Amino acid sequence: MNLKEKIRVIPDFPEKGIRFKDITTLLQDAGSFHHAIDELADYVRGRQADVIVGPEARGFVIAAPLAYALGKGFVPVRKKGKLPAETVSMGYELEYGKDILEMHKDAIRPGQRVVIADDLLATGGTTLTAIKLVEKLGGIVVGVAFLIELTYLNGREKLSGYDVLSLVQY
Ligand code: 5GP
Repeated sequence: MNLKEKIRVIPDFPEKGIRFKDITTLLQDAGSFHHAIDELADYVRGRQADVIVGPEARGFVIAAPLAYALGKGFVPVRKKGKLPAETVSMGYELEYGKDILEMHKDAIRPGQRVVIADDLLATGGTTLTAIKLVEKLGGIVVGVAFLIELTYLNGREKLSGYDVLSLVQY
């Protein structure tokens, strides 16, 4: 099955010069969505993960069905101020300015094997921040899994030392 042909590329979104990879066209196609989650699930099975972590918002759409398919728990990573209980937080640089990501303090138990899943790997900044949060809680990041990887942004280099899988590359 060709997943790449189900991804729609939108020129100049959200700003001029960016070719945005729109996954909604893949998600709305039942067979492609199912196939993508199955492929990612095979990878996660091989990593023997206990829990799947996904950053908001598109990461939820990948990580939650993945966790369900594997019979594992799902843990959200959210922007500052969204999670109701006690959190750990970590700042990260964006193209313009800074942002802060958070996880619940009791979301991961020390020694748990964690896979982080998201829709797309660009610079790797989001994933690296999620990795630091998981490690702060004592979790072991045994893999990171993406639907899409923008190889020209070298996110993989930023994630060196971690096992990285992507299903579609640009
Ligand atoms: P990074 O932190 O690796 O630079 O950026 C990755 C994050 O930005 C992901 O959470 C992803 O949802 C979002 N992102 C950046 N560019 C795109 C894009 O072209 N398409 C989609 N679907 N998400 C993107």
